[in-house]
Amino acid sequence: MANKVDVFICGSGSAGFAAATWLARCGIRCKIVDSRPGPLEIGQADGLQCRTVEICESFGLVEDLLREGCHNVEVTFWNADERGGGIVRTRSAPATMPGLSHLPRVILSQAKFHGMMSEAMKRFNGQGVDYGYKVLDVKIDEKRAKDANAYPVTVSTEKDGKEEKFEAKYAMGCDGAHSTVRRSLGFNMTGDISDSIWGVMDVFPQTNFPDIRKQVILQSETGSSIIVPREGGSMARIYVELPSGTVAKDVKLEDLQATARQIFTPYKLDFAGVSWWSAYSIGQRLADHFSKADRVFLAGDACHTHSPKAGQGMNISLQDGYNIGWKLASILKGQTGPDILKTYNIEREKVADILVNWDKVWAKQLSSLSKDTGGAVTANGKFDFSEIWVKASAFTAGLTITYDDSPITRARESDQKLATNIVVGMRLQGAQVVRFCDAKPMQLVSALPSDGRWRIMVFAGDIRQDAASKKLNQLGEYLFSDSGPIKKYLPPGSDIDSFIEVVLILFGERLKVNQEQIPECFYPVTGQWRMRDLHKIYIDDESYHSGHGHAYDFYGINPEEGAIAIVRPDQYISLISHIENHASIDF
Ligand SMILES: Cc1cc2nc3c(=O)[nH]c(=O)nc-3n(C[C@H](O)[C@H](O)[C@H](O)COP(=O)(O)OP(=O)(O)OC[C@H]3O[C@@H](n4cnc5c(N)ncnc54)[C@H](O)[C@@H]3O)c2cc1C
Repeated sequence: MANKVDVFICGSGSAGFAAATWLARCGIRCKIVDSRPGPLEIGQADGLQCRTVEICESFGLVEDLLREGCHNVEVTFWNADERGGGIVRTRSAPATMPGLSHLPRVILSQAKFHGMMSEAMKRFNGQGVDYGYKVLDVKIDEKRAKDANAYPVTVSTEKDGKEEKFEAKYAMGCDGAHSTVRRSLGFNMTGDISDSIWGVMDVFPQTNFPDIRKQVILQSETGSSIIVPREGGSMARIYVELPSGTVAKDVKLEDLQATARQIFTPYKLDFAGVSWWSAYSIGQRLADHFSKADRVFLAGDACHTHSPKAGQGMNISLQDGYNIGWKLASILKGQTGPDILKTYNIEREKVADILVNWDKVWAKQLSSLSKDTGGAVTANGKFDFSEIWVKASAFTAGLTITYDDSPITRARESDQKLATNIVVGMRLQGAQVVRFCDAKPMQLVSALPSDGRWRIMVFAGDIRQDAASKKLNQLGEYLFSDSGPIKKYLPPGSDIDSFIEVVLILFGERLKVNQEQIPECFYPVTGQWRMRDLHKIYIDDESYHSGHGHAYDFYGINPEEGAIAIVRPDQYISLISHIENHASIDF
């Protein structure tokens, strides 16, 4: 007889881990399998973009990540020296433009990163990956797919030479570029494989090249290269463009090393050790469908592939899993109907489409420069790749993603001018505020962990003013009333903040506001000890040691007017509304 599971996840790459970690965080067990005999040990991707680091913060992983990873702060651009021979640094720039995120871009081996996700999953609900399971086939009984309680997905696997079947409510194909799940569903990848061949090696370089501990984009007359400094201080990843006509499977490590030496001339480049290397052709391809019958979903490389040079693969894949994990959990917990799953396609197909099209241009620009111009300079009208890189940094950091309107993203119903920098469809950006109860300076987003809850963020202004105080009282009465939105969705017997949490952000001088002036409903009694939860109230004021965050100013909110922002469990903005527009607060 087949084993029954709520969610079956095929593949424990970044997409599979993100979805499984979300489910674990929400208390849902899944079956996550991988055909590998054990965890990934070396190689693959290594760049964690700012948005991914923010997601890690929301799962409680960021301290480990920031401690273990290499902080990628600066990027330098090197080009052919026009004075004749060699290469010269033409520009230095921040790896991520200041002000885009409160967290940096971090470089860490994908294997170590997966290890952290795995630990997090175990901490949340004891969930682990089952290695050595090869998925052979996935089938959906589409007639039963309409029945919310059915297990219409059958997954056939093989482990230790024995076939094992699973019946699942939902399944995910997170099984990489050669996805078996995708093929089982009859879906195809469409797009191109280019003739540009790149090699990558994780090496211990002995060199007098001065920027070996920075991210480097190098375009010399003999080819292009990228350096990515790695965690630990000794290893660096070097990507090199291989000569046209090279066949990826014929490439040897010595070819990569010889090409790299040539590109870096006149600097010396020797290799004390090599941890991992690979060679590949670049292709930009998209699956023709991302899901079937709202029961089986593809994520990550299984539905989009592109060049690795902008460091997007692991990140966009993880963000696919992050997008769907909470949605599946909320259905399985009975908090939401299955229609929410349609937003996975709306949101992630758009992201993949933009990425693949952008990458076609980007990969071409990066590899063509050395051939065309021997470098990138603007003054005399030549193409300047450094400018393109810098301008793309918000995009590559994962911070420009904007989800279109749907039942959970309501830009058309929002009054965006109330909070010009809390953009509906985008993720809430961090701004420093001070926690009211204990004066701790904090990034506001770090008060919104990924735990499956929706948030109503109330920017109430200065409640020492009668008008602001009155509006806050009226809002509190409405929100927490029996007919208000919070109790409507509250599972019986659970804490008032268990599905929708209200977070209050005041404005003004903290020491002149008394707790009694804040309606009690904004610090409700919750938890094991039935204590008032004071960690829901923040104020935009000077801190003792970290300056003033000017959060209202940063978010574009007029303190006289205030605003409400409804934030999804994945920190994307669902709605902006007026503090007195109670009727707009619905889920
Ligand atoms: C060899 C290699 C080198 C790469 N190098 C770089 C790089 O240098 N820079 C960069 O940015 N990106 C690189 N990438 C891309 C990056 O690693 C991916 O974009 C990212 O890992 C995608 O995550 P994912 O979860 O979608 O898939 P993956 O990380 O590929 O994970 C898929 C998982 O599914 C498992 N699996 C596959 N088939 C089955 C099956 N039938 N049954 C059970 N399990 C299965 C696999 O074992 C694997 O663990 C590389 C990828 C590979 C494979």
